[in-house]
Amino acid sequence: MSNTAADIEEARWRLVLARQEPEQAFVYAVRTTGIYCRPTCPSRRPLPANVSFFDTTVAARTAGYRPCLRCEPDRQGEAGHTSAEAAVIAACRAMRAHGGPLPAAQLRSITGLSQRGLSRAFAAVAGTSARAFGDAVRTGTARVLLRTGSPVTEAVFAAGFGSVRAFYDTAAPTLGMTPSSYARGAVGEHLSWTSVNTVVGTVLAVASARGLCAVRIGPHLPRLLDEVQTEFPAATFTPEHEALTDVASGLAALAAGHPAAAALPLDVRGSAFQARVWSALRRIPAGETRSYGEVAAEIGAPTAVRAVASACARNRLALVVPCHRVVRSDGTLGGFRWGLSVKQSLLDHEKREHNR
Ligand SMILES: [Zn+2]
Repeated sequence: MSNTAADIEEARWRLVLARQEPEQAFVYAVRTTGIYCRPTCPSRRPLPANVSFFDTTVAARTAGYRPCLRCEPDRQGEAGHTSAEAAVIAACRAMRAHGGPLPAAQLRSITGLSQRGLSRAFAAVAGTSARAFGDAVRTGTARVLLRTGSPVTEAVFAAGFGSVRAFYDTAAPTLGMTPSSYARGAVGEHLSWTSVNTVVGTVLAVASARGLCAVRIGPHLPRLLDEVQTEFPAATFTPEHEALTDVASGLAALAAGHPAAAALPLDVRGSAFQARVWSALRRIPAGETRSYGEVAAEIGAPTAVRAVASACARNRLALVVPCHRVVRSDGTLGGFRWGLSVKQSLLDHEKREHNR
């Protein structure tokens, strides 16, 4: 039996008419309403001429459709992952078990996605390809991916595969935000802040509902507040010192060269490339430094030294994303958004703690 695109569409349309759960996930989108649905959606069946099919909800959103409020195609049962995320996780897990890349046919049978569907899902969720992930597994650079129990975006971020893009593709459309408005803070977005005096000066922490979205260091709190309000001009800011006590003490610990007692949830806002750089910075142990070139090599972009330096300079999350651990290849400090004396002082504290 042939498997032409028309055959697949026809089989999918039959499932939609029967409101039947498919073996291989897909959604159908309706041109006239701009909505996409699960095949099992109880809503009225559209005219077939207005319907297109997508392997993943990510693909449907990318094509400009919105999720149906009745069947909630992005809400997933198991582990809270979307079908694209679940497919990527399954593929990653299989490649980790295998210790390297797997043939496309094997990935298709593991994920239930077509090759095209899987590469779209990988690009959207992980900001990379299955092949690149497999290679990273083989060279040992993907080992921190998919820590059990952590949300997929954080896990993907931890491995340096750009969860920011995943965030845009999964959460942002639900919030009705575009990536650029998300990066700046959408109108009415509520951000809470607190500040803490540390050994390197005042640290301002700003958090969204997802986690820390800005951490800044400086001598004057009002100026720091001004700066973040300029950076997120559409958001509203509320002091929440009590709710952010753990965040404040975690940041004070980091400033003094100690590890934070609890993991600080992050809401990373930047490009996929920046996210890869920032993720690599988080893997530099306290007490050590890397050159910009070494970070570029670490993220698999050895010629992108200037872009790495620029991503370091645009780091919004001081201390948590330790851009202070990146120095020039000749060992001199290079730049630091929050001042070279602060950078030197952070490195000194970390070295001292490390050598104890
Ligand atoms: Zn629906």
